[in-house]
Amino acid sequence: MAQSGRLMPFLAVLLSTSAFAATSVGPRLPGRLPPEVVPLHYDMRVDPDAARLVFSGSETITVTVLRPTRTIVMNAADLTVDKALLDGRTAPTKISFDTKAETVSFAFAQPIAPGAHRIALDFAGKIYQSAAGLFAVDYKDGSADKRMLVTQFEATDGRRFAPMWDEPGRKATFTISVATPRGQQSFSNMPIASTRPGADGKTWVSFRQTPKMSSYLLFFGQGDVERRTRMVGKTEIGVITRRGVADQGRYALDSAARLLTFYNDYFGTPYPLPKLDMVAAPGASQFFDAMENWGGILYFDKVLLVDPKATGESQRQQIFSDIAHEMAHQWFGDLVTMRWWDDLWLNEGFASWMASKATDALNPDWHVAAQTAAFAHQTGINLDAGGSTHPIVQRITAAGQVTEAFDQIAYSKGEAVIRMLEGAVGPDKFRAGIRRYIADHAYGNTVTDDLWAEISKAAGWPIKPMMDSFTLQPGVPLIKVSEPVCRGATLRFRLSQGRYGLDATSRKPLHWVVPVTWSGPGRAEADVGAAHPTAVSVPGCGSPPVINPGQLGYYRTLYSAPHFDALAARFGGLDLTDQVGLLADTMALGSGEYAPLDRYYRLIDRVSPDADPLVWRVIANHLREINGLLEGDPAQAAFQLRARGLLAPFYARVGFTPRAGEAADVSQVRETLIDTLGQLGDPQVIAAARGAVAGGLETLPAATRTAVLAVYGRNARAEEWEILHQAAKTARNPLLARSYWIALSDPGDPKLAQKTLDLVLSDEPTVPNRAAMLRFVSLEHPAMAFDWAVAHADAVNALVETSARTAFIVSLPNTSTDPAVIARVQAYADRALPADARQSVANTITSIQNRAHLRKVHSGPAAAWAAQH
Ligand SMILES: [Zn+2]
Repeated sequence: MAQSGRLMPFLAVLLSTSAFAATSVGPRLPGRLPPEVVPLHYDMRVDPDAARLVFSGSETITVTVLRPTRTIVMNAADLTVDKALLDGRTAPTKISFDTKAETVSFAFAQPIAPGAHRIALDFAGKIYQSAAGLFAVDYKDGSADKRMLVTQFEATDGRRFAPMWDEPGRKATFTISVATPRGQQSFSNMPIASTRPGADGKTWVSFRQTPKMSSYLLFFGQGDVERRTRMVGKTEIGVITRRGVADQGRYALDSAARLLTFYNDYFGTPYPLPKLDMVAAPGASQFFDAMENWGGILYFDKVLLVDPKATGESQRQQIFSDIAHEMAHQWFGDLVTMRWWDDLWLNEGFASWMASKATDALNPDWHVAAQTAAFAHQTGINLDAGGSTHPIVQRITAAGQVTEAFDQIAYSKGEAVIRMLEGAVGPDKFRAGIRRYIADHAYGNTVTDDLWAEISKAAGWPIKPMMDSFTLQPGVPLIKVSEPVCRGATLRFRLSQGRYGLDATSRKPLHWVVPVTWSGPGRAEADVGAAHPTAVSVPGCGSPPVINPGQLGYYRTLYSAPHFDALAARFGGLDLTDQVGLLADTMALGSGEYAPLDRYYRLIDRVSPDADPLVWRVIANHLREINGLLEGDPAQAAFQLRARGLLAPFYARVGFTPRAGEAADVSQVRETLIDTLGQLGDPQVIAAARGAVAGGLETLPAATRTAVLAVYGRNARAEEWEILHQAAKTARNPLLARSYWIALSDPGDPKLAQKTLDLVLSDEPTVPNRAAMLRFVSLEHPAMAFDWAVAHADAVNALVETSARTAFIVSLPNTSTDPAVIARVQAYADRALPADARQSVANTITSIQNRAHLRKVHSGPAAAWAAQH
């Protein structure tokens, strides 16, 4: 289980020692390989047999032995090793595998002397059908069945490809040669160095040596592909797609070219590799969309390719943002890497923040800052406001914990606290600190404190106390604002801090150093500590200020009633970012019973139909969330009617049908409105979706396709479910096929949901689609999907990558509001999951408990609101 308390002092000491410096032997750390042997270079040869889903390989690893040892231990999982030879002459006396630790040990009769050595290995392994190690991506090309091979190693699956020191701190260089069948191409991190003929008509393709890097960034792929390229300075940017759809990569190529220029400037160190490929795999994973392999970024096609038939505006923006995220990693993660997974957030929080910043700078009309405040920021806070939350920096001692560490605390809270830090330091000084951090640690490994040291130097003040309070302890600060009082010509109020949480555990008092800001004249910021309220004076007795303008701070703001009413009265005049921030805080504080929910309904009742589309997206999402909580509540029908009435005037402005040349935000809000009104049972929208599908599935407009299919699928009758089923089976475009499999996985009718579950056990959909379908059934029928998955646990686990199995089944019921499910989740976890990988179980149990409580909290106010008018 991930440690949920503060980072232990002894661990902080270990983290700041250089455990893997090549000149000295560091301590043996829990869950890690012994430190005596340091890898310098891997020379690998791999021969895949795609049809039989196996491969054979050989490698010669150049190492430094730091002190005499009789054993060499490295990582290996699901591999066999046929032959091992030290320095070309000495075979080990014994080769033994530890399947739990995922290691292979080579024992030698005599101690190996310190100094340089070479270890040669012959080995063989599996090609998987879910995204771990070397895996197959199956798709239809016309009527032909095709198979592409790609690799996915983060976090701990490089060891499924070759025996290696598979830890981020063990950086080395790699050369790789791959046997490539006729009619196919191979691609990797680096450009091709040479080719030569091999057996069976295959060609051996050898790639240039990589820079020194972590094993999880190694990449290789192979298939019947096309590659389009463009030069940006000295860097060749490429998009690699299955044959026939290379044009769909044009948007990605354009976006990457703009981003590379932006990042070369921002980081101050130019992109160091000769090429940067983006590979579009026609598949999916339940756990990631893209992976930042250095020079060879892997994407699943829906997050890279713009298909004129399938890609709507939200997806187009997602593509840009995902490219921005993965490219930010080329510096922050690939060039400079966290020493161990405890600091995973350094990678993910920073890349998420950088992606938002770059996307905003290059697409100002998308209002990225406001979208971030409305969505990503809230995702992090909401998870952090439950009892199962954990600190951003957390101790990782087992492989199962590494997978679980990739959560919204690392991504969204990580992004939020970096945004707050940039706001507190100032963008120019912050960038100066980042440039020095990248330059000083290039090709090396770091811990969080290394970043704080560079930013503090650039800022001229120590940021560590503030940042430690947000990274070493969990939770969300609550800034309470006393009622403003006018004295003389000055408005006075006090700021104090508490903790925002949704249950007893997440409300236990903690203290933060919070940089609080407010709008308007006067001293516009204060560090609000724990001991005493901070007195604030604002010149003039006009309308009281917005606290946390721009929503840069990681906290919720609780206003006094008069202060809130004053802001609500001028809601339309606030900055867009502050409008969505006020909406989110008001909903969240009502849900947490810090303020009456009535405030929220009064606020949305006064929002104009002319308000920004983003404001209506936020409101629609809130109404959909409340509707989900009210499932089965007697007040639900009246609430739905009232909610539809609230959305109607704005929906009339936007309409069901996309219009040529309309703004991006209008197109986006239409997707949300169609989906939400469908959820709220709007008969006109449901009829319109049915009419659109009757007009032809293949000709649905891309701009509303996902939403229309969602409404159609959720309200499907048996014959409509079958229409989707037939379309999914026969579609030749993998993106469209996937959209039909997903659409038939979210039916309201439990009998149809059961038919979908039957398909999950069939071989009609591809393996990744089968996993996705189960996940989608769980959205509408969480308990049913979970119970079914437990009953078929072996078959279900076979659909997802090994490292993700601790999370998949236990996460299925996390939208349930039924406390009776909790005991079943616990029983399954106790029976089937390792004791040290329980974060997902805790998250699910917390989510169900909190949703069951929220259901009670929301029922009365929703009924009261519905009864008005
Ligand atoms: Zn990332």
